[in-house]
Amino acid sequence: MNGQNKYEVLQTYFGYSSFRDGQEELIDSILEGNDVFGIMPTGAGKSICYQVPALMFDGITLVISPLISLMKDQVAALNQAGIYAAYLNSSLTQGQYFKALDYARKGKYKIIYVAPERLLTESFLEFAIHANFSFVSVDEAHCVSQWGQDFRPGYLKIEEFLRRLPKRPIVGAFTATATREVQQDVVRLLQLSNPKVITTGFDRKNLSFFVLHAKDKKTALMRILRTHYGESGIIYCITRKLVEEVYEMLAERGLEVSRYHAGMMDDERRRSQEEFTSDRTQLMVATNAFGMGIDKPDVRFVIHYNMPKNMESYYQEAGRAGRDGEKAECYLLYSSQDVHINQFFIENSRDNEELDEETLASVIEKDRERLKKMVFYCHTKFCYRKYMLNYFGEKAEQYCGSCGNCIGKPQAENMQTRQRNQPIYNADVTDSGRLLVAVGSKKKATFNNPELYEQLRLLRNRFAKELQVPAYVVFTDKSLKEMSTYLPVSRAELLEIQGVGQAKCDKFGQAFMDVISRFKEEHDVSPTKVQAKARVLSQPKKTRT
Ligand code: ADP
Ligand code: ZN
Repeated sequence: MNGQNKYEVLQTYFGYSSFRDGQEELIDSILEGNDVFGIMPTGAGKSICYQVPALMFDGITLVISPLISLMKDQVAALNQAGIYAAYLNSSLTQGQYFKALDYARKGKYKIIYVAPERLLTESFLEFAIHANFSFVSVDEAHCVSQWGQDFRPGYLKIEEFLRRLPKRPIVGAFTATATREVQQDVVRLLQLSNPKVITTGFDRKNLSFFVLHAKDKKTALMRILRTHYGESGIIYCITRKLVEEVYEMLAERGLEVSRYHAGMMDDERRRSQEEFTSDRTQLMVATNAFGMGIDKPDVRFVIHYNMPKNMESYYQEAGRAGRDGEKAECYLLYSSQDVHINQFFIENSRDNEELDEETLASVIEKDRERLKKMVFYCHTKFCYRKYMLNYFGEKAEQYCGSCGNCIGKPQAENMQTRQRNQPIYNADVTDSGRLLVAVGSKKKATFNNPELYEQLRLLRNRFAKELQVPAYVVFTDKSLKEMSTYLPVSRAELLEIQGVGQAKCDKFGQAFMDVISRFKEEHDVSPTKVQAKARVLSQPKKTRT
């Protein structure tokens, strides 16, 4: 084990001063040598759960991950944090692949990301059998299950791979998928050995949910966008054609917007995705092909231009908002037309799959059932959050206080059975005073000095461009907001900012502090104010044991 304890590792490399719900328990269990199964919603911070132990174990940690784009970004983020990591997947040329493998053999990497399909290849197995793996982490573990919508046959190879190793490493599986069948499959198919299962619950408290029954979706969309000016957001449409239409409309109005769907060329799609993750555009209009594996923590809103086919998809897609833990909004624009489109997809999209008639019929039946529950969601007059959590088998309060059905409504009213048989957002969105209340009441200015924030953002984006990494890999918005609020001008102060670890402080710190110092001088920040900030910064962190 390396000499640092888990808190030191968290602070030194990731710049965080405390663990979030579930993280510490999982990490402790891994460090004790147990297999674990972490079931946590998107944004909960699953990566930290295997990255911290990875840095504490003597050997290598292998991370099995389904998505090439995700691996690349994760490795970039680790490298910027001063951690030796690499990925092995089909995006490498053969030359690059063997070179990386060679470095891996020489012990250059602490963390290696690999695609499941590669595990049983001769070259990889040969390396693996001689490597010292302490820990194997299976990301997006639900991909092993045929129940889920993201089934990846490659995941079925993991278990055999583990068996082929001379010594079985500790295995951790992680997923955000809530359904029981999938969870059971993960334990069974990966052959987790008496795993410690930790679920943190699926409630994403920082997200607020809204459903709008809009006659004119374009108008509704524009109204929502106006309330999110300057923020990053994703707009999901059900068909490629709609993506194009909405994209055109937004581009015509001069908005900085990207688009993404499976009908585009590979590199066109890649460019588009990069525009968005590097903050060159703020809006992404996409089909559901977009998002899996995109780690952009500061997405402030997700709009579903159409109702998705089930709650699972909705929760997953809407959940791409607010991964940084800051407040974010999820809107669904509903029309009865959406139901018909989804019905059509359910009846017609499985032609190519090799399912016998009976299985096919039962699959379609299940899909219909799920669609029905999705439609009920759109029409419920009660708390949307509660509906969602109950759907995933969790208990919830009657009243969340922040969704479209709870806001502006006294708790008592929400708990009564409403007699009127109409949704709250009936008719046109223009009638919907409640949404405006919701958005208007949002506290936007949670940080000071927006002007400085903008300067820091530009600097951050310049670094990102130069290093060819997503913007958040340099610093997240949250870090920049804290900087523009607390104005750190020394190394010690900067290290107190959330998300600033040693390596990033060394690499980028001076440039950011220069901007902050200049800002302070120009704006003559009064000594008392500076002292107040300094006091805030020098306050001891939470006691650690
Ligand atoms: P998940 O994989 O569960 O969706 P991630 O691992 O991508 O979530 O983490 C989501 C965000 O939360 C990331 O920006 C990550 O850096 C941040 N994060 C994770 N753990 C902590 C923590 N203990 N304190 C503050 N931020 C954290
Ligand atoms: Zn609610």
